[in-house]
Order: sequence, then C-alpha cells, then structure tokens
Amino acid sequence: MSNKVDILGIQVDALTMAEAVAMAERYMEERACVMIATANAEMILRATHDEELREILNEAALVVPDGAGTVWAAHHLGFEMPERVAGYDLAQEIMRLAPSKKRRIYFFGSAPGVADKAKKKAEQLYPGIEIVGTRDGYFTPDDEPGIIADIKEKHPDLLLAALGVPKQEKWIRAHKEELGVPLSIGVGGTLDVMAGVMKRAPRWMQKAKLEWLFRGMLQPKRAGRLLALPKFVLKVHKYKTRGNQT
Ligand code: UDP
Repeated sequence: MSNKVDILGIQVDALTMAEAVAMAERYMEERACVMIATANAEMILRATHDEELREILNEAALVVPDGAGTVWAAHHLGFEMPERVAGYDLAQEIMRLAPSKKRRIYFFGSAPGVADKAKKKAEQLYPGIEIVGTRDGYFTPDDEPGIIADIKEKHPDLLLAALGVPKQEKWIRAHKEELGVPLSIGVGGTLDVMAGVMKRAPRWMQKAKLEWLFRGMLQPKRAGRLLALPKFVLKVHKYKTRGNQT
C-alpha cells in the first residue's frame, strides 16, 4: 500500500497518518505478530552503525516517519513523503478507535508508576478502552520470564513498548513470536507524555518542525543528543551526493 523510501540504508514508509492507522488496524485483524517502528533522525542515524537495529527496521512491517528530520531527508533525497507520522500521535489514533474495535492494549515501559498513570489518562480520554496490563521498563534478565508470562496471559492485540531506542525494538524482535501479540510498536516517551511526566512541544513548535529543539531544552541531559540532527542532515546530504553510500 505504501512506498518504501531509502534513507541512509533504512527503508522508511512514505504514507499518511490515516494510512498508517489503517495498516495498524489490518495487522491487528490479521493477528500477524508484526512490529511498527517509528523512525526519527536519531534512530536512523543510530541504525547506520547498529547493524542489529538496521536489520530490525528493515524487517519491520512498517517504519513510519516520526519526525520532521525524516520527512526532510526523504524530500532532500528526491522522494515523496506526504507527512510526518509521529509515534505518539499514531498511538493516540489507535487508542481512539480501540473501544469500538474492542482492542486489548498493554503498556510496557517507562519508570515505575508511569504506565499506570498513562492507563488512567487513556481511560479518561478514550472511555471504554481496555488497557489490559501495565509494567514498568526497568527490569533484570531474571524478571523477563515474569514479564513475558504476564503479557501472554493478558492477550493484548497491541503492545506499546516504551523502553527507549534501540532497547524497545530489540526487545520486541526478540520476543514477538513468543508473545503472540499481533502488533507491537516502540513508542519511546509516549507513556511519559500521557502520564504528564514529560511535555510534548506546543503545537506551534511542532508545526514549525522544532519539536526536537523543545525536547533538548526540556531535558538538558539530552542536549548532547541535539547534535544528532545536524549530523543526520550532513549524512543525508553526503548520501545524496555520493550515490547512496553511508
Ligand atoms: N526506559 C525504560 N527502560 C530503560 C530505559 C528507558 O523503560 O531501560 C524508558 C524511559 O523511562 C522513557 C522511555 O524509555 O520513558 C523513552 O526513553 P527516552 O526518551 O530516553 O528514549 P527515546 O525513545 O528518545 O530513545
């Protein structure tokens, strides 16, 4: 249904939010055990030197363009990319439809207490939604069998994994068949935003394509990560001029 566009060796889907939601619904109907990844500039840059992440992204059912940087890169490389599909917004759209479609959703990740707060928020925003389980994202290898057993027992249609990049993608790939969850999405800071622990950029900044700047300002310890964007821009430009060599 959608076109894959090559950005620094990562195949990103050129599609609209409405199309991404339709695909997500289809995966849940088909019970296919697939992953949707949400690729911003930082993730794509990381994937250029993290081979496992690159493989995971290129095997994912869908890689949505999460971030102004990703959309810019597609355009700079001469491809069509209709719009940004932010992971946070995609998760909200799926949750909005969840009560009428009777979807079961599991929140996995973020600091202790955050997923429960996000669940309460989801129940306020989307009355009738079934958040069938929650679990924080700080665990040891010994905890994993218990986490897996809990997810299996709750039979979610959708697993939202908020463990940060690339931990969430690697965890989903390692366990998705065993879990038998039709659709898993790595959603980064989504539960933090829902729980009110972290703010999203105001609309005007999102529209001005400055959400990355807002995040860097809000979390000074992440300020170093702001460098990812200029690095990404340079790399994409070289990729174009050198004929797709990273
Ligand atoms: N996180 C987690 N377990 C970890 C590391 C991070 O659950 O071992 C959570 C963290 O609390 C936050 C989310 O992952 O809620 C996303 O983290 P961050 O914003 O650093 O990652 P990004 O998605 O931007 O890479």
